[in-house]
Amino acid sequence: MLALLFVTLLSSQQANVWYDALLVESGYGRLPFERAGFLILERDGAITMQPWDTRGVRHASYRGAMPERVIAIAHTHPRNETRPSSRDREVAARVGVPVIVVTNESVIAAMPDGSLRVLSR
Ligand SMILES: [Zn+2]
Repeated sequence: MLALLFVTLLSSQQANVWYDALLVESGYGRLPFERAGFLILERDGAITMQPWDTRGVRHASYRGAMPERVIAIAHTHPRNETRPSSRDREVAARVGVPVIVVTNESVIAAMPDGSLRVLSR
């Protein structure tokens, strides 16, 4: 039930706006920059994104406690690496929210239960 709710929210047009924003910032996977952020479900139902620190380095990172109301972690992968890595799956299981991989080709979520969901292609 909860998983279904997640998938509906994470496939929404509003969520896709944020995936596109990450993709643009990563140079559509052509540049050596990973971009990442928390997707947050605000009290009024809006989905917002809290971007991770990047500073132009290869990997985006986050330190500290997860913000409240996080419904997913989204991040970009280089072109042709469309599938969540084993680390992405591990993080999803550990923190209990989907870890979403955004590429030019598709948007795929590693779910906390270990399954993969294609959110868009
Ligand atoms: Zn990844």
